[in-house]
Amino acid sequence: MIYPRLGDPRADLSWHRRQLDVAHFAETATSHRFATEVDLVVVGGGITGAGVALDAASRGLSTVLIEREDLAFGTSRWSSKLVHGGLRYLATGHVDVAWESAVERGHLMTTIAPHLVRALAQVVPVMDDTAVRSALLTRAGFLAGDVLRTGARTPSNTLPPAHFLSADKVRALAPAIDSSRMRGGIMAWDGQLVDDARLVVAVTRTAALFGARIITHANVTRICGDGVDVHDTTTGTEFHITARNVIAATGVWAGELDDRVHVHPSRGTHLVLDAGRLGNPRAALTIPVPGMSGRYCFLLPRPDNTVIAGITDIGVDRIDPVPPVPDEDIEWILSQVNTVLSRPLDRSDVLGAFAGLRPLVTMGAAGSGDTSDISRKHLVSRAPEGHITITGGKLTTYRRMAQDAVDAITDTPCITTSIALVGAAADLPRRSPGFFATDPWVMRYGAEAERVRALAWLLPNPDSALDPVADHTSVARVDIAHALLHEGAKDADDVIERRLRLDTVDVDRSVAQAAVAEVVDALTGELSAGVR
Ligand SMILES: Cc1cc2nc3c(=O)[nH]c(=O)nc-3n(C[C@H](O)[C@H](O)[C@H](O)COP(=O)(O)OP(=O)(O)OC[C@H]3O[C@@H](n4cnc5c(N)ncnc54)[C@H](O)[C@@H]3O)c2cc1C
Repeated sequence: MIYPRLGDPRADLSWHRRQLDVAHFAETATSHRFATEVDLVVVGGGITGAGVALDAASRGLSTVLIEREDLAFGTSRWSSKLVHGGLRYLATGHVDVAWESAVERGHLMTTIAPHLVRALAQVVPVMDDTAVRSALLTRAGFLAGDVLRTGARTPSNTLPPAHFLSADKVRALAPAIDSSRMRGGIMAWDGQLVDDARLVVAVTRTAALFGARIITHANVTRICGDGVDVHDTTTGTEFHITARNVIAATGVWAGELDDRVHVHPSRGTHLVLDAGRLGNPRAALTIPVPGMSGRYCFLLPRPDNTVIAGITDIGVDRIDPVPPVPDEDIEWILSQVNTVLSRPLDRSDVLGAFAGLRPLVTMGAAGSGDTSDISRKHLVSRAPEGHITITGGKLTTYRRMAQDAVDAITDTPCITTSIALVGAAADLPRRSPGFFATDPWVMRYGAEAERVRALAWLLPNPDSALDPVADHTSVARVDIAHALLHEGAKDADDVIERRLRLDTVDVDRSVAQAAVAEVVDALTGELSAGVR
């Protein structure tokens, strides 16, 4: 295994570093004498683009990632935050896809990012009206999931096997359940991320460690035969990057740069609830949706004392940068989860809500001769002009998607199964299944925790720099400093929405805003003084 060296500055992203990278390309583009050609431009800084940048840079390719907003701006921050073993694909007969998920889940939980993923217990309750056949089918599905887990060599002390639970145990794990109608449950384990955007940032920083240049807030306006045209959205500057290869990982926006790719976005909405209102559950509840085979709603406990409830699956014909949450989604989720709760939830219990668009894709007829559909769940296609588009898939399988895309441009073997992300370390203490680290900084940063805490001394009033900035969070001012100094955040929105996720509970956001503004001001002044 390759473990990043703790504190290696090559893994630190900052706005200053991004400005130097833009200047490098903007200047060389206007000077033929010094024009640089890179091996690869990756378009899109979601989990797929981040994975491609890491894969390519670690194979020795000179790589630049261009993201038009911020890292994890798109779908990658609106997921259910599960690293799942693909059980739902088994149910639909897609064994290959389920296998791929189980294998990738194993890599993430054991070697690549064990500091960012915990084992989460998931209980399917058996209620009075649950048909015996349905309970047995669920149990059989979980058994098949165990076979995949064992085949993928994920040890049972990382993900314990599935089993039946007594009613008392279900009640202890999920106290809000309607005990009068519950007879027991079936429990299985899957992976849960401390945060999805945090995974994107960790993968991107690891790519930077291997030499990738990361340029956010820059839009690729055109892919042409010899590279890409870029528009710096902060200054309006236009420049060209000459590249031997271009891989577009633009999610639901894939059709904008390759009109043969047709995206059919599907909206998935989650609600954010107070964990206390649900008795502080220690396991997720998986609730079958009546009349829809293979469809479930979830109540997923999060490490920040919230529970997220979801999820809808509604085709839409508009791609909003941040999809709004319609009332009917909120009502539908509440009605589904209420089927198993003793005290029904209503709108007043909803602390926040968010929606993301699944990038479901098909290829157009034109040019389809050049297309290779590598798997049913993600698509790697080469445009007639030569660039590659990778889309579809899921967060869990980003590493495999990246491998498939980069395999299309080089014969150098992929090594990402043996690269741990920043924050992972061989000697980090193992956690019991079910638990994130109790120290909030170890939970978010793994081996980098002490380095983040030490930033207190850079801030005004260092004694309070570790105090939480809002109610439903353990985020403190040191985290804000880390986001700006080492995680490439440009401003308060990047910090709040993509690094520290202070945006999901409406009331927390307004409270946190002041703390973020204070640190942004303090550090921005200090940094620009240093740069001058
Ligand atoms: C509601 C929901 C729940 C989900 N839950 C899970 C889950 O629990 N587990 C799981 O494994 N998967 C889950 N998924 C799937 C997973 O979230 C997505 O498959 C994955 O995040 C897609 O990542 P991406 O990088 O391909 O796209 P995105 O994250 O959307 O990234 C694309 C990026 O490209 C940028 N971009 C676009 N055009 C340009 C351009 N011209 N120039 C520069 N940049 C550009 C965008 O700004 C964006 O940041 C879920 C999906 C949804 C919608």
